[in-house]
Amino acid sequence: MSFPDTRPRRLRRTPALRRLVRETTLAPDNFIFPLFVCPGKGVKNEISSLPGQYHFSVDNLAREAEEIAKLGIPSVILFGLPEKKDEVGSEAWAPDGVVQRAVRTIKKAVPELVVAVDACFCEYTTHGHCGVIDRERGGALDNDATLENLGRAALSYARAGADVVAPSGMLDGFVGFLREGLDEENFDHVAILSYAAKYASAYYGPFRAAADSTPAFGDRHGYQMDPANVREAIREVALDVEEGADIVMVKPALAYLDVIGEVRREFDVPVAAYNVSGEYAMLKAAAEKGWIDHDRTMLETLLSIRRAGADMILTYHAKEAAKLLRNG
Ligand SMILES: [Zn+2]
Repeated sequence: MSFPDTRPRRLRRTPALRRLVRETTLAPDNFIFPLFVCPGKGVKNEISSLPGQYHFSVDNLAREAEEIAKLGIPSVILFGLPEKKDEVGSEAWAPDGVVQRAVRTIKKAVPELVVAVDACFCEYTTHGHCGVIDRERGGALDNDATLENLGRAALSYARAGADVVAPSGMLDGFVGFLREGLDEENFDHVAILSYAAKYASAYYGPFRAAADSTPAFGDRHGYQMDPANVREAIREVALDVEEGADIVMVKPALAYLDVIGEVRREFDVPVAAYNVSGEYAMLKAAAEKGWIDHDRTMLETLLSIRRAGADMILTYHAKEAAKLLRNG
C-alpha cells in the first residue's frame, strides 16, 4: 500500500497518538551521574570547563548523593583527584584514599544508590598516563604491570563498598583479571562495567581539565581505539563479555551512535554509553550564546543515545534532565 491509502501522519495527529507509537523512552532510571571527589574539607568548586559540575570534598558528598537519589537517578560513578600523585598512581589503592572514603560516605548516606568507581590511574600518576610506564620501551604503557595495580585498586573499592567497578584504561585482559581477583576475595557480587570500546577522542578535553589527567608526554593512541574503527569495537566488546563483563560501555556517545547500535545488535549484555565532557561543553557553550534551546537539545541528545541502543547513559546532564523528565 502507498499514498493515498497510507498516510503516516495519521498517527502523529495528537499527543496521545504520538505517545502510543513512541519507540524509545528516556527516564531518570537511565542515568549514571559522574562525580569528582577531591581532598580537603567543605569543598564544592565549580569546574570551569564543565559549568554546573563540581569538585566535591568527601564531607559534601552525602548531601549531593541524597539529592541525586531523590531525583530518581539510580547510580553515580566516582572519579578521584588524589592528595598526591606518583609515578604509578599508588593512591588509587590507598585504603583511605579520597574515592574509598567517598564510597563509604555515600553508601552510608544513601545505601540504595548504586555506587560505581572508575578504575584507572591517569588522575593519579605524575605523567598522566593510565598506568605504569615502561621507560625501556619508549614510554609505552606496561599492560601487565598495570593490571596488578588495577587489581589492587578494584579490591580496595570493593572493600569500601562499591557496587560496580568500572575499569577504563583499555588494558588487554583487564576484565578477566579483575573478575578473578574480586571473586578470590569473595566480592563475586561486585559488578564490572567495562569501558570496552573507548576511543582516543578529542571530546575528552574538558574532563582532562576537570580531572587533571592530561598526559605530560605522548598521547593515548597506543591503548585507546582509533575513531575510524567499528569492527575492532565489536572484537573488544566480545573479549570483555567473554571475560565476564556485566555491562559494556561505548565512549564517547554522540559521535559513536553507530558503534552503540552495532554493540546493541551483537550482544545481550546491558550497554552503557558515556555522554562525555566535550559533548556536554558544546551544548552548554552554544546555549550560552543563545544559538540553541538548551533543554530541548539536551533531551534530544540523550534520547538519541537511547535510540541507538544504550540501556544506560553516563551523563553530566543527569540531574537537570531528571528534573525536566519528572516535571513532564
Ligand atoms: Zn585513564
